[in-house]
Amino acid sequence: MVHRAYNFYAGPATLPLPALEKAQEELLDYNGTGMSIMELSHRSKWFDEVMNGAQDLVRELLGLGKEYHVMFLQGGASQQFALVPMNINTHGKIPDILHTGTWTKKAITEANILGGCNIVASSEDEGFRYIPTDYRINPDASYFHCCSNNTINGTQIEDFPDTGDVPLVSDMSSDFMCRELDYSKFGIIFAGAQKNIGPAGTTIVVIRDDLVGLHGVDVPTMFRYLTHIEKRSMFNTPPSFAVYMCKLCLEHLRDMGGIPAIEKKNRDKAKLLYDLIDGSGGFYKGHARKDSRSLMNVTFNLRTKELEDKCAAEALALGLVGLKGHRSVGGMRASIYNAMPREGVEFLVEFLERFQKESE
Ligand code: PMP
Repeated sequence: MVHRAYNFYAGPATLPLPALEKAQEELLDYNGTGMSIMELSHRSKWFDEVMNGAQDLVRELLGLGKEYHVMFLQGGASQQFALVPMNINTHGKIPDILHTGTWTKKAITEANILGGCNIVASSEDEGFRYIPTDYRINPDASYFHCCSNNTINGTQIEDFPDTGDVPLVSDMSSDFMCRELDYSKFGIIFAGAQKNIGPAGTTIVVIRDDLVGLHGVDVPTMFRYLTHIEKRSMFNTPPSFAVYMCKLCLEHLRDMGGIPAIEKKNRDKAKLLYDLIDGSGGFYKGHARKDSRSLMNVTFNLRTKELEDKCAAEALALGLVGLKGHRSVGGMRASIYNAMPREGVEFLVEFLERFQKESE
């Protein structure tokens, strides 16, 4: 048996074992070609099937029709902070942005470089510990941007606003496909693959057809969504191995029952951890406000930084890896993405209970 750690890193993150095993099995000879998928031309029929298959699976799992295009791009989710405003250029209109942390700050910075934006609400007043719900969307906004899951603070949007005719854009990097939603409410969804869907190296962008082709005339070819849609994400050499791995992970998700099945598992795992935090008499203190808690990134603090360091070090010695919070906020963070097995969370809970007893 291969040794597998329980990996709580925020991303790149743990991947489903069956997908890794399939990749291992096919590594030297993909589908009888005598070549690794890494060695195959992206112009070959074999890779064509991988790319088309991965795009179809994204649509199928999200329950979307052909009016949505799926792209596998490079440049990370970070590049999307600029590509969205570059591609939704509706003549003088600016986007509304819901400011909930580091990742929306980056979207704001890029939007400001490209013509400006309007911050409809911000949770900066409380260190981004919650998701604001009391705000109005400007009916003239070019689009409304939000981050569905704030990886660093451990907050998640539960109810997305009704944006009317204003396209709803969401950065779903850290909670893509973690729960059932009416995905047809969204105009654009983007997500770096390396948290919930696959390895680092590709970013999935889903866009509704009516939003394609709205780029400014000064947007270079490579930065236009239209270019990548027309060329089915193969305008230039795609990150072929990353797309292949995403396809294996998406197949695994489909075979286990799709998003409804994974949502059940995710809610169950998150409950285990939040119940522990809430039942610890204040020894573990949840960072995010209860009404804004994330299913994916569980953030919490201990009394002192020294105690947090001790906790993370002892956990690491037991094979519980990556529990330190993001360097910008400190504390602890357990990222429990789709591929984290329930046993990993159970093991973590047992450890945290023991650590509390030994420290009190
Ligand atoms: N958005 C969110 C919500 C993220 O968590 C991250 C990465 N941690 C990013 C955007 C940036 O992603 P990338 O590193 O792929 O550019």
